[in-house]
Amino acid sequence: MKIKNVTIAGAGVLGSQIAWQTAFKGFNVTVYDAFEKGIKNCKTYHNRYAKLFLSSKGATKNEVENTVSRITYTTNLKKAVQDADLISESVPENLEIKKAFYTDLAKLAPEKTIFTSNSSTMLPSYYATETGRPEKFMALHFSNPVWDANIAEVMKHAGTGQQYFDIVTAFAKDIGMIPIPIHKEQPGYVLNSLLVPFLSAAQNLWFNEVSDFKSIDKTWMISTGAKSGPFGILDLVGMETVYNITLMDAKRTNNPTLFKRAEKIKSEFINKGRMGISSGRGFYTYPNPEYKNPDFLTK
Ligand code: NAD
Repeated sequence: MKIKNVTIAGAGVLGSQIAWQTAFKGFNVTVYDAFEKGIKNCKTYHNRYAKLFLSSKGATKNEVENTVSRITYTTNLKKAVQDADLISESVPENLEIKKAFYTDLAKLAPEKTIFTSNSSTMLPSYYATETGRPEKFMALHFSNPVWDANIAEVMKHAGTGQQYFDIVTAFAKDIGMIPIPIHKEQPGYVLNSLLVPFLSAAQNLWFNEVSDFKSIDKTWMISTGAKSGPFGILDLVGMETVYNITLMDAKRTNNPTLFKRAEKIKSEFINKGRMGISSGRGFYTYPNPEYKNPDFLTK
């Protein structure tokens, strides 16, 4: 089976990127979001990506126009999935929302459709039953931004069929990703098994006022040669996801400090519209964050 029609469900930070990249690589893309606001935001992101691809990704005007022409947008799930070969789900990182989404999707998607989840922290087996087709379901996890950090972690759950795993792995390659096959469920895949504890450790240093976020970033950047530190990465991830991950961890461990840390992310960032790079402000201010200044590492 060759994938032609792809539906992206959840048109936020990651869904909008996956939709753009997939259309850029020649697939027909339908963007579905439960809310008009999500669709509106996605269109804004896509205008931004069109400019980015023209200015710094070597795309021609023609390629960008063709990309735009291959994308349609809808808030109607039935319409969105009626001829989908593959669904890439990026709805919010919340188990109830994911389960409800797959329960609805199972009723509406044709039999041929392969379902993939982009969840960063949940395992496919958490909602494989809700999909109604566990053999055609797995994780396909992207990194942010998908065109630069172009790994795609393809992860089975115990019931995933090998033939569908192979189709999704080939699809990942076709949209310009380097597929990372993961043969058994691993919370956090490969990347987040490394990244989540790292970002949490950095936030603890900041939250406990051990040091300020810029000094923590400097320490990491000078010592490892990395292009950004943990707080630059948090801005890229987006505060909504940072909040959801922290809250989930707090509930899992019943750790009062984590609850307070989640609350601080909410009150100091989300409630003030400081969502990270996507809104122009998180820990740093964009498009020219201080950590990119040549003298940031020498002061
Ligand atoms: P986001 O908050 O930016 O976007 C979520 C979108 O889903 C919004 O547009 C929202 O309107 C929409 N939505 C809400 N409820 C919905 C529903 N029931 N059905 C359809 N759409 C719905 O979130 P995000 O950062 O793009 O994260 C989405 C998923 O991608 C999460 O599972 C996250 O773990 C994963 N992910 C995020 C990143 C990242 O860097 N942000 C990286 C890899 C994976």
